[in-house]
Amino acid sequence: MADPTEHLLTAATAPSYGRAIRDGVEHVARHLVEAGAPTTGPDVERLAKRVADVDLDAPVDDVRSALDELSSLYLDDAVWFHHPRYVAHLNCPVVIPALLAEVVVSAVNSSLDTWDQSAGGTLVERRLVDWTAARLGLGADADGVFTTGGTASNLQALLLARGETVAATRAPLSRLRVLASADAHFSVEKAADVLGLGREAVVRVPVDRHHRMEPVALERELLRCLADGAVPMAVVATAGTTDFGVIDPLAEIAATCARHRVWLHVDAAFGGGLLASRRRRHLLDGIERADSVTVDFHKTFFQPVSSSAVLVRDGRTLRHVTMHAEYLNPRTAVVPNQVDKSMQTTRRFDALKLWLTLRLMGADAVGELFDAAIDAAHTLYDALADDPDLEMAAAPELSTLVLRYRPAEMPVGVADELNPRIRRALFERGDAVVAGTKVDGHSWLKLTLLNAATTHAQLLEVVELVRATGKELGAQLEEAC
Ligand SMILES: *Cc1c(COP(=O)(O)O)cnc(C)c1O
Repeated sequence: MADPTEHLLTAATAPSYGRAIRDGVEHVARHLVEAGAPTTGPDVERLAKRVADVDLDAPVDDVRSALDELSSLYLDDAVWFHHPRYVAHLNCPVVIPALLAEVVVSAVNSSLDTWDQSAGGTLVERRLVDWTAARLGLGADADGVFTTGGTASNLQALLLARGETVAATRAPLSRLRVLASADAHFSVEKAADVLGLGREAVVRVPVDRHHRMEPVALERELLRCLADGAVPMAVVATAGTTDFGVIDPLAEIAATCARHRVWLHVDAAFGGGLLASRRRRHLLDGIERADSVTVDFHKTFFQPVSSSAVLVRDGRTLRHVTMHAEYLNPRTAVVPNQVDKSMQTTRRFDALKLWLTLRLMGADAVGELFDAAIDAAHTLYDALADDPDLEMAAAPELSTLVLRYRPAEMPVGVADELNPRIRRALFERGDAVVAGTKVDGHSWLKLTLLNAATTHAQLLEVVELVRATGKELGAQLEEAC
């Protein structure tokens, strides 16, 4: 048997480490160049068999063989977010400086829980927390920490809100309520569940016809909670809803929260990228009055998964996640230990990706990438406004378009049947990847645009694929009736 320490990254193996990584990078680059479509529409059974057939107890001989095997299991049939006809979920093409950082992050493998496992890494993360908080306008006492995603950031924010509310009111968990719009992300309900409140503790505040939370309805629901003897623990406003990409009226909601002394959390998982925009930062006006904010860098800052942060106006509220262990972060520590602020212990140095992105590109360039995607959504909306075959659910605010194939005189019931089929066919044929959603019980398609390199003409190609597939499948549907 060969010496297994050859596989450990040490001073002695630095040359073979370099070769392996270069081989890997070239392999991925080849796939990027050769991927002619956003997906092959792989068949689950076929891929599952290939994965199951791998003998995990019989390793391959070398890096090349491992990469070739990986191609057949994964890369040949990957779903490529950089492809112009991938317009489905909130997945972004990633920026190269962040990929450079990934190499460093995983090789050095710092853990950001304590100073003695990270040193400068802790300081880099803290600078980025401060940078983000400053762009949010949260004030001098702000703080925060990087997390694995919007779900984790929302959970931590609501955990802090729970801590503050219970400290102030002594209310039992069963009386606590979280108010969020009907279009808020499902992670709010998940968080309420995890926090011991139960999903029923989330009160869904109605939205207006643009799918924005109605401040008047928020006021009404808050009063109703109080009349019922419940305790509003937090209001969650969304800055960029997952489906429609609209921003709740933050300033009005903030005023309502201040009047009722309720914690305001702003879920800016999607809209957070506006912090880097020179043209649209004002859309987030009012966010500076939040008690906590979620920003997903792995959405609109074009970072590889995972990279998110939760920011708080008052850093002292992070004490609700603080625990001390003698071996790790004793109370008497005189060095910064980020574990004091995090729900995780061992934690990746994801912040380095954003750091190198800002150092190599600058924030304005990141903002331009997001602005370009928003421009593209608006241009496409205008181009399709009078389209006889397509209906649009709403005008875009950020970069999502919710539309459906429904020529004049097609009954809505037929469109409800047809649109999910269009989506499935586009995926299975590898033509395009679009998302689907339901609005008031009806089926729609959703295009999420995040690729600044995609042209208007390329987006129109996706639309023409939707139309052609709709015509074809619609005819079949009619024949079957
Ligand atoms: C994507 C999203 C989330 C969840 O974030 P993850 O990073 O996927 O965990 C939360 N809220 C909103 C509004 C989102 O769009």
